[in-house]
Amino acid sequence: MTTPVTLIPGDGIGPEVVDAAVQVIDATGVKIEWQRVAAGAGAIPTHGTPIPQETLEAIRKSKLALKGPLATPIGEGYRSVNVALRKEFELFANVRPARSFAGVQTRYNDVNLVVIRENTQGMYSGVEHFVDEEHSAAESISIITRKGSERVVEHAFLYAKAHGRKQITLVHKANILKCTSGLFLEAGRDVAKKHPEIAFKEMIVDNCAMQLVKNPGQFDIIVTTNLFGDILSDLTSGLVGGLGLTAGANIGYSAAIFEAVHGTAPDIAGKGIANPTAVMLAGAMMLEHMGEKAAATKLATAIREAIGSREALTGDLGGSATCKAFTASVLKRL
Ligand code: NAD
Repeated sequence: MTTPVTLIPGDGIGPEVVDAAVQVIDATGVKIEWQRVAAGAGAIPTHGTPIPQETLEAIRKSKLALKGPLATPIGEGYRSVNVALRKEFELFANVRPARSFAGVQTRYNDVNLVVIRENTQGMYSGVEHFVDEEHSAAESISIITRKGSERVVEHAFLYAKAHGRKQITLVHKANILKCTSGLFLEAGRDVAKKHPEIAFKEMIVDNCAMQLVKNPGQFDIIVTTNLFGDILSDLTSGLVGGLGLTAGANIGYSAAIFEAVHGTAPDIAGKGIANPTAVMLAGAMMLEHMGEKAAATKLATAIREAIGSREALTGDLGGSATCKAFTASVLKRL
């Protein structure tokens, strides 16, 4: 069976790393019909918009997309193309695993945790304005709903069960943000009661940041609101070697979009030296989501072994290999 997948190469280093990911995903033997469409700054000259209608239609149909990073052009009417895509398809859970890599020297060598971030609400609701023309003050409204909180925490529990994980830490700031963060915590506690076989802990976000740096081994799954998850998942990427190495899955009931955590890296775009690991790992997460568990494991293992061998590391990991050379090192292991 061939599965249609929408492919968005994206901006900056996007086309380079996405092309590398397609090569290694195809090499697993899973049959995918890649449907290439445009989005981001690169779509404006051809389509007049960073989110063309045909791109939305393609995702609506395939229900699955692999995407490179997107640049949001300033003043084009979108706060962020990524945020718009997450809202359009109600991709309410952003799943970002962080696991140490053999061959990448960091402070800890045994990090193995997942940050699950609420992806559509909170400080990213887009309700923000200056109170006057002089910009003497500004306000931003954080919107949290019980339904939005429950579905992401429920997803965290289902993810824990599917992946043999034992503990969920709900991260909040309910001591200060009593209504918004308080509601997220209250909804999370209610969901947790339905899953007594998974340990449930609560932690205030500032303490969580400190605990992650001091002792990341105490965490298994972290579930939290949009802004906290955005910041903490970059922190956890840093714990395992940086943004070039971590992938994310945006999950909704009717579609899922897989991507790297990193952005378009304009400083190295066009030089052929980007690390494609993050989008490759996003590809492994997508294969698992498609039910292709063996292929997903095979791909993730080949990527990890290629990094562990250190034979073709890119500049961000202290090597001097090109994106193509690293890709060849992964392909050889598949
Ligand atoms: P960035 O992630 O693009 O870059 C941060 C640093 O990490 C840079 O030094 C870059 O060279 C390095 N880096 C990132 N990915 C790398 C890789 N694969 N290999 C080697 N080095 C890598 O963050 P930024 O500079 O803050 O953002 C640049 C643009 O990307 C902005 O327009 C931003 O809006 C956009 N962005 C998009 C996404 C997305 O599409 N999901 C996410 C974050 C940022």
